[in-house]
Amino acid sequence: MTDTHTKTLRPRTRLVHAGTARSHHGEMSEALYLTQGFAYESAEAAEARFLGEAPGFIYARYGNPTVRMFEERMMALEGAEDAFATASGMAAVNAALFCQLKAGDHVVAAKALFGSCLYILETLLPRFGVECTFVEGADLDAWRAAVRPETRCALIESPSNPTLEMIDIAAVAEIVHAVGARLIVDNVFATPIFQRPLELGADIVLYSATKHIDGQGRCLGGIVLGTEDFIRGEFDPYMKHTGAAISPFNAWVMLKGMETLELRCRAQTTSAALVADALAGHPRVKKVIYPGREDHPQHALAKRQMETGGPMVAFEIEGGKEAAFHVMNALKVILISNNLGDSKSIVTHPTTTTHQRLSEEQRLGLGITGGLMRLSCGLEDPADLIDDLVQALEAN
Ligand SMILES: *Cc1c(COP(=O)(O)O)cnc(C)c1O
Repeated sequence: MTDTHTKTLRPRTRLVHAGTARSHHGEMSEALYLTQGFAYESAEAAEARFLGEAPGFIYARYGNPTVRMFEERMMALEGAEDAFATASGMAAVNAALFCQLKAGDHVVAAKALFGSCLYILETLLPRFGVECTFVEGADLDAWRAAVRPETRCALIESPSNPTLEMIDIAAVAEIVHAVGARLIVDNVFATPIFQRPLELGADIVLYSATKHIDGQGRCLGGIVLGTEDFIRGEFDPYMKHTGAAISPFNAWVMLKGMETLELRCRAQTTSAALVADALAGHPRVKKVIYPGREDHPQHALAKRQMETGGPMVAFEIEGGKEAAFHVMNALKVILISNNLGDSKSIVTHPTTTTHQRLSEEQRLGLGITGGLMRLSCGLEDPADLIDDLVQALEAN
């Protein structure tokens, strides 16, 4: 299948076929090239490849045929010029920032970010003379006030973790572009199926492929997508020389995961919408946060920016941590874990796990209360998920 052909195909077809590079055996399933290095036909051939005068792979830290198939399939899905896969989602975030920043630069980020992203921005970057300003992501005036001539990039997540707050990607892109900065979007919660940040004006989109792209809780992985100039000019040299390359095996798992990505995300989203409605109707539930529901404070933005409400739901009950633990411990189908995007449904208590490192004040500022739980909907029958939640909410 040629590149020009895949471009005319619909996303679901691209997810199955794009990027496939068959060997001379003509294998149906993409080959797993479990190799560190590549043998050259001659010393001259090695020289030419190192000079960039001849195409071909050099070393698995730089690239690998299976990894490239995964990157090409993601590029076809996102409409990105280029991509580079990484060992994990955090390797993707770290490299996307460090590859382009230097002392004296400034970064603006939304306050509601994945905990490890906050660590990079608050703790690591200042050590290298990079300052970071945190803003209320939904407040566009705060974004306008925060950007400066030295602002080099901005980092956001939408919907955010765990309170599913939406940020207007197109509006923030316009604000950061006005000072010549780039917008990086961590698109994990929306999934690559339901939100296309590059089409909305973002410059760089990244994923923890660990989540819905694998989708079955097996491997760590990440990927960064953007223009060819950015990926080859800035990201690729940083990755090559710092080493957070994805394992070819993990890339193969991600590549095969993509074949069912749309089917899984749609089923998980259908369940999430049903679960959100069921929770909203339960007397013990104080608040349900789901971008697909009309009572979400940014429902209009969610509808404009995302195709559906997505596979994640958050909900809050009275009684704080103790009451939340009681409900979680009574669940029989939904598992307690800090992960998400698995085919198995997962409940998380952000206060005591993913967001434990934050101060109480920071947490409450983000709406993360003791009674808040985050739910990642899996592939079980939604009726069983609802039954499980209802029996847990009503357990003594
Ligand atoms: C999980 C996650 C990450 C980190 O990904 P890893 O693969 O665990 O390193 C980053 N951002 C978001 C939004 C995530 O959910």
